[in-house]
Amino acid sequence: MLIDGAWVDATGGGTFESENPYLGAAWARVPRATPEDVDRAVRAARRAFVSPAWRGLSASARGLLLRRFADLVAEEADRLAELETRDNGKLITEMRGQLRYVPQWFHYFGGLADKIEGRVIPIDKPGVFNFTREEPLGVVAAITPWNSPLMLATWKLAPALAAGNTIVWKPSEFSSVSALEFGRLFEKAGFPPGVVNIVTGFGNEIGGALVEHPAVAKVAFTGGDRTGQSVYELAARSIKPVTLELGGKSANIVFEDAVIDDAVKGVVSGIFAATGQTCIAGSRALVHASVYDRFMERLLDLARTARMGDPAEETTQVGPVTTRPQYQKVLDYIRIAKEEGARCVLGGGPASRPECGSGWFVEPTIFTDVRPDMRIAQEEVFGPVLSVIRFDSDDEAVEIANGTMFGLAAGVWTQSINRALSMSQRLEAGTVWVNTYRAVSYMSPFGGYKRSGIGRESGLTAIREYLQEKSVWIDT
Ligand code: NAD
Repeated sequence: MLIDGAWVDATGGGTFESENPYLGAAWARVPRATPEDVDRAVRAARRAFVSPAWRGLSASARGLLLRRFADLVAEEADRLAELETRDNGKLITEMRGQLRYVPQWFHYFGGLADKIEGRVIPIDKPGVFNFTREEPLGVVAAITPWNSPLMLATWKLAPALAAGNTIVWKPSEFSSVSALEFGRLFEKAGFPPGVVNIVTGFGNEIGGALVEHPAVAKVAFTGGDRTGQSVYELAARSIKPVTLELGGKSANIVFEDAVIDDAVKGVVSGIFAATGQTCIAGSRALVHASVYDRFMERLLDLARTARMGDPAEETTQVGPVTTRPQYQKVLDYIRIAKEEGARCVLGGGPASRPECGSGWFVEPTIFTDVRPDMRIAQEEVFGPVLSVIRFDSDDEAVEIANGTMFGLAAGVWTQSINRALSMSQRLEAGTVWVNTYRAVSYMSPFGGYKRSGIGRESGLTAIREYLQEKSVWIDT
């Protein structure tokens, strides 16, 4: 692990195995941090925060470090992507795409580092000068999931470092290897010791110690909503600000004036491309009754052709489920959906095709006759399972789309600009895509409504999550 600029073992020397989901077997051994290691890392980050080597660095020098790091990531993008695919079983094409894009966040926030400005307030008292300073918070605890390991960490690390904070990052126990390699690049870029620290281990063993550590000033978390809730509750005890990027149950809404072939492609890639393992998975397709039969026919035609297999192969379209517990959870939801009366029209169980090897594969699964109140239409499955729901009017579509506790994203398929604008206003989601799906950018804010989270990542607003405003009064 990376603590205070040194590569260290866990206290007591504990390790754990990281499994390759395609092989269903261990491929790497990673240090298993203890709460003492968390304490060491947070103390190092706090020392680095107040040290002249970091605090004394000009904003433009900080920005330069971030941009240098971006260039190193660009050089290593494909190698990092391969590590991620081995660790989390997601398609090499997707991981490569993400890693080649990750440098942009560091360029963008590196470029913002020297554009953080205060204000002069025209106080209505003669002789009084009041101005504001935008200051970093201190040590930021970043806790990240396994599904897009380095990209989601980047969404936290880039703005937090640009703003002048220091970091203790705990990657998911299912995707620690690429995180440690990222650490080497921070070192190589020349970040002072202790500015970025990485502790690997289990959330239930060290996550709490990190969140509640008195020297942690802010918690930036991406993961499941229940874990997020417990992180939020723990952070509240010491009045720490949090950013939470949590789960979703996003709806892809296909209106009667949609270009059906585009909508079908959007729905299929929205749910199956990452084996359903993205927070923004379009796990519900709401389809207007007048185009329902046409849509379903093409949907099934396309979904049936999905090529499953080794995620490291460029031609594979659907890879394994990342973890054994997740695999079981997906199968449980399929069983529950059947018990609740949903009709399974594709897949519906483990995949045993020869190309799936001994990995944890679930067949791309589609349910119809889904009622909006069924568990399969309300809860996050995080697997290749699509629920199709028919609707008759725009109002009904909005009611169903908004009728879950989540509000991360929504897709709208229509040729009407009026409908596009009206839906972009009426849908309770942090992101609304019209005639596209799963697009993200370092420039555009990303985050959830309702139980999908608090705060925004990416874009100009993201850096504010890592700053606090100080008001300075001078009586002249
Ligand atoms: P998870 O909640 O199980 O774990 C996320 C992280 O939290 C891991 O690093 C884990 O070790 C840690 N953790 C676990 N218990 C903890 C505790 N008690 N205290 C502190 N940390 C703890 O999530 P996951 O299974 O790794 O990821 C999948 C989830 O992440 C899905 O729900 C998905 O929707 C969500 N997600 C959200 C976004 C987003 O941007 N909104 C993006 C990707 C994934």
